Amino acid sequence: MKLLIPGPVTTMPEVRAVMARDFAPWDNDFRALNARVKQRLLAIAHGDPSTHVALAIQGCGHFAIEAALRTFLPPGGQILVPVAGSYAERMVRLAREAGRVAIELPVPDGTHVSPAAVAAALVANPGVSHVGLVYSETSSGMVHDPVAIGEVVRAAGKRLILDAVSAFGALPIDVSAHPELDAFVFTPNKCLEGMPGMAFAVASIARLLQSAGNAGSWSLDLADIHAQNLRAGPGVFRFTPAAQVIASLDVALDLFDAEGGQPARLARYRANAATLHEGMEALGLNPYVSRQEQGPIVLNVAAPNDPAWNLQAFVDGLKSRGFLISNFYNTASPSFRVGCIGAVDPDDMREFLAATDATLRDMNIRNRAPTQQAA
Ligand SMILES: *Cc1c(COP(=O)(O)O)cnc(C)c1O
Repeated sequence: MKLLIPGPVTTMPEVRAVMARDFAPWDNDFRALNARVKQRLLAIAHGDPSTHVALAIQGCGHFAIEAALRTFLPPGGQILVPVAGSYAERMVRLAREAGRVAIELPVPDGTHVSPAAVAAALVANPGVSHVGLVYSETSSGMVHDPVAIGEVVRAAGKRLILDAVSAFGALPIDVSAHPELDAFVFTPNKCLEGMPGMAFAVASIARLLQSAGNAGSWSLDLADIHAQNLRAGPGVFRFTPAAQVIASLDVALDLFDAEGGQPARLARYRANAATLHEGMEALGLNPYVSRQEQGPIVLNVAAPNDPAWNLQAFVDGLKSRGFLISNFYNTASPSFRVGCIGAVDPDDMREFLAATDATLRDMNIRNRAPTQQAA
């Protein structure tokens, strides 16, 4: 079965094989492994170990996002979140439930977060200390621009927190070029093609040291994790980690390096996305965003306007043909979504397109045009 969902993704057998072993997280061998994995992640982010550090936290991506919000914003602190999709909405909710003030900047459907709009919102809201940006908005498939947004955040003397969960590993991030960045967060199970169960942040060491005591949570405190690493060593955990996930990430990073690192991974995902986008059009289906707006991570396709359309039946038909896609959508009008990421290539995409055509025929879908014109 190939998973064509935007995480957790299809992985290589050698990555999965690590999960069959027992690990003692406090053993010196595991500590060395953990420290090495974090060093490798920092290097992918172009982080200099004298200014930046990679930190590991138990849980999924949302846990790391909440940890970053709690760590770098004090209770009651204000963050501006450009809301271009459901992951940005989630950041807003995480901030509010943590007792921080989230100010939403609405972003019109199908458009990119505008640096000028962020700059204007920062002028209009002088109490804001941070901007929270989702790099790759997995709900729409659109990629926003942390370089351009980072520039206006920096110019305004504010700080940036970046959700790079569905970006890191494929889309470039150079923390050395972003002094305004407090942290970006990610998980192993998206573009790094590893397993779910841990999350990571690459953070500014200076800002971690300034942020002690903000979190109001022991579990979700990046400053405390960093302090513990300083005290006890970089491979040491405060609480039991998902050790298999970390060990399998080390193998996934070997494969990442062998492929040619971030540029090669991005090139493969772009080829996947382009094959899917063109192929869906050739099948008479309508991708949700135009080819120019289409990011390399996930493709949303407008649901056919046919009485026989049923997302779960479509998903089941594809599953019987060896492909699993999401059985939900989070675009404004009905759609289905297909991940372009994971250990899959354009040949898999072509097989998937054939499976899509066969499933739609089986379902007796006659009209493949959208239910509603996408914006
Ligand atoms: C997957 C994802 C997350 C985190 O999801 P979890 O289920 O918590 O791992 C956060 N942000 C974006 C943009 C994502 O794609």
